[in-house]
Amino acid sequence: MQISSTPAPQPVDDARLAEILADPGFGTHFTDHMFTVEWTPEKGWHDARITPYGPITLDPATAVLHYAQETFEGMKAYRHEDGSVWTFRPEANAARMAKSSRRLALPELPIEDFVQAVDALVQADERWVPGSEGEKSLYIRPFMFASEKFLGVRPSQHVTFMVIASPAGSYFKGGLKPVTLWLTTEYTRAGKGGMGDAKTGGNYASSLVAQQEAYAQGCDQVVFLDAQEGTYVEELGGMNLYFVFKDGRVVTPATSGTILEGITRASIIELAKGLGHTVEERKFSIDEWRDGVASGDIVEIFACGTAAVVTPVGTLKEAGRETAAPTAETGELTARIREALVDIQFGRAEDTHHWMHKVL
Ligand SMILES: *Cc1c(COP(=O)(O)O)cnc(C)c1O
Repeated sequence: MQISSTPAPQPVDDARLAEILADPGFGTHFTDHMFTVEWTPEKGWHDARITPYGPITLDPATAVLHYAQETFEGMKAYRHEDGSVWTFRPEANAARMAKSSRRLALPELPIEDFVQAVDALVQADERWVPGSEGEKSLYIRPFMFASEKFLGVRPSQHVTFMVIASPAGSYFKGGLKPVTLWLTTEYTRAGKGGMGDAKTGGNYASSLVAQQEAYAQGCDQVVFLDAQEGTYVEELGGMNLYFVFKDGRVVTPATSGTILEGITRASIIELAKGLGHTVEERKFSIDEWRDGVASGDIVEIFACGTAAVVTPVGTLKEAGRETAAPTAETGELTARIREALVDIQFGRAEDTHHWMHKVL
């Protein structure tokens, strides 16, 4: 892919950048540049470019605004102590976006083009990659949307893929403390044949009302059950779940079309096995959660995803009952897995799985 480049005429100055990187928050500050490439059936992917970051103009009839034909990804660039900059399993994000795009009837961006686009943006905005202290990183958001001006309902004949980036501190303000969960029995995230395993804005749109309910109940996040029986635990709005048993077994709900196949989730399967644990991917009922905590069989629960990495799960609230947190603070294995993952990402541990990709 040929990428043209127009440098930002007024990049953020060093003093302001230092201020932002000292306390980046999450998703509020954006780098000096963005990547764009367009697709049409006639020309395929074309006009790849790095340009100054800024608003884009969309016709009010642009298809994505009406029918939500879009997909996205979330990944991070990490600075190692020697100053080098790396991404984590970018081919996995590229492959997942291709899969999501097939589900949304969007064109596939070739894996190597996806990785090249992310590399090009991170290289252009290298000074925005924070130092590794405090586990800060550069959050990268590739996304693809139906950019044709047309109100008819059919797959868009003009598609835009973009990459933007935003320096990131800790996802949850207040650091690593257990998140409380609200169990929704009214709303579901995804049904059989739906798009639960595609990373698409629509899944998030449909989760927000349940998330709102969670906030109203004093909870941080919402947990969804399967749509068919309302029996099995699926995932949170944007994170996968893990349960640790007293005998060392680790269980995560099997992804079978309705659960997003998290790259963090997949990596933790490998890490947990490496630490000598048996990992079970299977159906996990809400009763097993309630009973397992009550009997003491479940000793730790955690959620995982790129943005928040690994986060301990505390109390589960639902209408008329509450299941206590299995541990008061961060469980032992939760902490070990988190550390093992973060150490690889920040270059403090050997990358035996060959997960890291050097950007510069
Ligand atoms: C992105 C996402 C995850 C986590 O995936 P990672 O690749 O680990 O970041 C989990 N669930 C949903 C619904 C998601 O969109």
